[in-house]
Amino acid sequence: MTEYRLGVIGDPIDHSLSPQIHNLFAEQTNLKIDYQPYRVLSENLNSFVKDFFESGGDGLNVTLPHKIQCSQIATSTSPIVDLIGAANTLKSTKKSKDIFAESTDGNGLIQDLQEKSKIGSANILILGAGGSALSIIPSIADCLPKNILLDNRSQEKIQPLIERFNNLTINNSIIDNIDHFEDDIDIVINATSAGFSGAFNWYRDLNLSKKTFFYDLSYTKDNSKTPFLNWAIQYSDNYSDGFGMLINQAALSYELWTGIMPGTTINKSDLIND
Ligand code: NDP
Repeated sequence: MTEYRLGVIGDPIDHSLSPQIHNLFAEQTNLKIDYQPYRVLSENLNSFVKDFFESGGDGLNVTLPHKIQCSQIATSTSPIVDLIGAANTLKSTKKSKDIFAESTDGNGLIQDLQEKSKIGSANILILGAGGSALSIIPSIADCLPKNILLDNRSQEKIQPLIERFNNLTINNSIIDNIDHFEDDIDIVINATSAGFSGAFNWYRDLNLSKKTFFYDLSYTKDNSKTPFLNWAIQYSDNYSDGFGMLINQAALSYELWTGIMPGTTINKSDLIND
């Protein structure tokens, strides 16, 4: 049986659940994989990626801080990587020297979120204007929400984000000033790292109600709530953390490497908590 040589690169990498997730996929789909975590420093990234694929590697996941650099190392890129300038998946085949870069974060989010809340025709507020906000906007736009609203602590980062999507053919509008937005906000997505050291708080009042669905891209490894969700429960009982996005983006990478889409019904307790 072919053995796929796979891995995840980042710095730090100890926290990564990707090896456990991909080993579960392999068991489930009856494939043999060797999936390793690699801590790679930025200055060694180019040579690491080149050596990994030249020595027969099949695929890599990419996590912080290497997503932008990996999109530049690749010799071919998907349309979404061209648009956002970042990649979370690299693939090569033993026959070709091509290194292909893909980003599965956005579609991973959509696969999870659409099982939990209706995205089409919704007013969706994204908090944050960093790398993860950038990576999810095109996939959200593809679902034709009514409006995508953006808010960020540093207001000056919002406009450049919107300008990047100027050529995106979407039938909905991206709104950068939510001060006078009076319609209901249906979904709030937290794409910030706020609350990592303490409680989450947003710097202004938002038009939220008990019908609003709250989705945090961050996740916990157990049943505790993230700081964002602890804040969100003052408004609504409808919420989710980003564990499902983690599983779904991993599944899309696995499919790219092996041609087989694994099942994504995985619970936190299925992974070994260290
Ligand atoms: P970036 O560093 O690129 O961006 C951080 C964002 O958080 C910025 O918008 C920043 O605002 C904001 N922020 C940071 N601290 C605060 C604060 N105290 N108050 C308000 N805003 C704050 O990070 P990423 O976009 O790459 O990642 C964001 C989160 O998404 C991370 O927690 C990451 O783990 C998670 N993620 C989850 C994935 C999954 O599979 N579930 C995949 C990818 C990311 P400002 O511009 O003002 O500094």
